[in-house]
Amino acid sequence: MRNIPYKRSAPARHAFRMTPQRAEILRVLEGNKSHPSAEQLHRRIARKFPGISVATVYNTLESLLGRGEIAEVRIDRSRSRFDPCTDGHAHLMCVKCGLIADLKAPPRPPVPAGKPAGFQILHFNLEFYGVCPACAKPAGRKENKSCQKKEKK
Ligand code: ZN
Ligand code: MN
Repeated sequence: MRNIPYKRSAPARHAFRMTPQRAEILRVLEGNKSHPSAEQLHRRIARKFPGISVATVYNTLESLLGRGEIAEVRIDRSRSRFDPCTDGHAHLMCVKCGLIADLKAPPRPPVPAGKPAGFQILHFNLEFYGVCPACAKPAGRKENKSCQKKEKK
């Protein structure tokens, strides 16, 4: 999935057929804020279509991307994540659990000095990384446990 271009120049509209499986993928993605990976989507779709292959899910995601109906989110370096919202908003990812939160679409930032003359900017990505509240808590508990062990010794 990582080799899919960010923006496709030639949408393959003619190749798209709305199968029940594709409709289910769209249904699962619609309004979905969790930015699922292809594997997560496959597990979810397989509940309703037990025989569906990962390849079918990948191919469907590719054609949906080509049609601009979904966005590929690349903030997670380990795998592509998918987003039904294609308005160019920014993302914030938890480096511990991989949770991706939406941030509002940012204004275009100033381009730092050094851009070669004549280089036309087409689009940009703003990615933020951090630790989510849920992941911040267990770390605190671990610290408490190690303190208790020290006290017992
Ligand atoms: Zn987290
Ligand atoms: Mn998003």
